Amino acid sequence: MTTNLCDCGRPAPDATLCPLCTKQLGEWLASIPAWLHELNVARFATASTQRLGRIRGGETPLPCRIDIAQLVDQLRHDLEWWSRHVARKTRENPPTRSRAAIWLAQRHVIIAADEDASALLDVLDEHRRAVLRIVDLPATRHVHVGACPHVDCCGVISAELHDSRALVLECNGCRQTWEAHQLRRLSRQMSHAVAR
Ligand SMILES: [Zn+2]
Ligand SMILES: [Zn+2]
Repeated sequence: MTTNLCDCGRPAPDATLCPLCTKQLGEWLASIPAWLHELNVARFATASTQRLGRIRGGETPLPCRIDIAQLVDQLRHDLEWWSRHVARKTRENPPTRSRAAIWLAQRHVIIAADEDASALLDVLDEHRRAVLRIVDLPATRHVHVGACPHVDCCGVISAELHDSRALVLECNGCRQTWEAHQLRRLSRQMSHAVAR
């Protein structure tokens, strides 16, 4: 057994990361799908608010959340690189893009023994901070999304993000609710409604 020293200063028996940092690595990897989801919500909320601004008249700059797009690209790129890297070591097939984060989280103990493990931990910490800066969530946040797309409803849709990070969208007119997986469709319906 060889005992290395983790970047945090604690002993790391037979690994690059100490047990605490290894646990942290697993938790952050498992959180990536939630991070991507929140970034998607932030992008959607920005786009909707900007659209609403345009209907009210006046020039509103196009929603251009290049910061979000870049962060999502970077996260996806890192996941892909690490999936291929780990798959080579474990002689497995690399996971599909949508499963990469969870696949890596399930192998976080193997990753903790990789000589670049602390670099990954640092990168994830950076990404995590960037997500928090963009999303900037208090425990529950109320986001004004925009006008209800239903022809006979003049209600307004709001989104609420709860502690559990579950997203609920509800129209205060017709009381219809939408879930996270319906965001894209709702966004399309809203832009069609604006065009009407
Ligand atoms: Zn450590
Ligand atoms: Zn409605």
